[in-house]
Amino acid sequence: MRAVRHTEHGIEVLDVPEPDGDGPIVRVRAGSICGSDLHMLAMGPLPFTLGHELAGVLDDGTRVAVDPTSGCGTCDQCARGATHLCRNGFDRLLGVGAHGGFANAVAASDHRLVPLPESLRIEDACLVEPLGVAVHGVRLSRMGGGERVAVVGAGAIGLAAVAAASPVASEVGIVARHDAQIAAGERLGARAAAGEYDVVFEAAGTESALATAADLCRPNGMIVFLSTHWEPVAIPGLPALMKELAFQWSYCTCAHDGGHDLDDAAALLAADPEIASTLITHRFPLDDAAEAFRVAADRASGAIKVVLEP
Ligand SMILES: [Zn+2]
Ligand SMILES: [Zn+2]
Repeated sequence: MRAVRHTEHGIEVLDVPEPDGDGPIVRVRAGSICGSDLHMLAMGPLPFTLGHELAGVLDDGTRVAVDPTSGCGTCDQCARGATHLCRNGFDRLLGVGAHGGFANAVAASDHRLVPLPESLRIEDACLVEPLGVAVHGVRLSRMGGGERVAVVGAGAIGLAAVAAASPVASEVGIVARHDAQIAAGERLGARAAAGEYDVVFEAAGTESALATAADLCRPNGMIVFLSTHWEPVAIPGLPALMKELAFQWSYCTCAHDGGHDLDDAAALLAADPEIASTLITHRFPLDDAAEAFRVAADRASGAIKVVLEP
């Protein structure tokens, strides 16, 4: 089968052995490129297939998305149901520590399979994971409903935050660099941010975005980080202190009372097809992965989510 690897020659699509093992094999139909995939390229050649946002079909025909995280089942975090925080989870993280989904097939034995609602197109269901990340962040914000919410950064994860927060918030404001990003936010129910907010999602990962988030937060408001800080960032100490801001980091997705973030995300995607049509801007066949990665990394391309279709 074919699989996307980062080698000394850059992004390549290689012939690799079919996945083996006892568990279910997912025949991948769609995988989307994440900002973290682009960051990992800076680490040089990687020994595994990339891709942690994926959807496909089991051999029995079941259509699924896949939780790339998996718990060891024995540590204290797994015992309390926080499998995404498993002490031993990194080596099993699909596309990050283990073979991922930019391939014809992936072994999903230890991974949670997310059955797709009937009306959710499988070619859009690779968004279940990134939207689930935003759903997880909204849950960690402990919003009760009716809050004013702002999102700083309008890349894929910022727009996913708009989509995830809109059903609960009274209003969603967005801070974005480009008019096209504001327009995408507006399609999902946001407007240009103005005024003060109860909860601010930081989805850009930069120091200036964090400063903006602190400015937008009301006293005793909360900043939720959906971004990844690949380098240390300075905390805007005085506004954070003088407003007694709360900071909450959000990582991947997990089960919660009565459900799972990924099932919630799949339901949200099925209920509002505008989310996928706004987020997915480009699609490429698997063999064009090098070009897909180039487009995903090119800010001038207008790319939000770039999808590979094996
Ligand atoms: Zn991702
Ligand atoms: Zn564990």
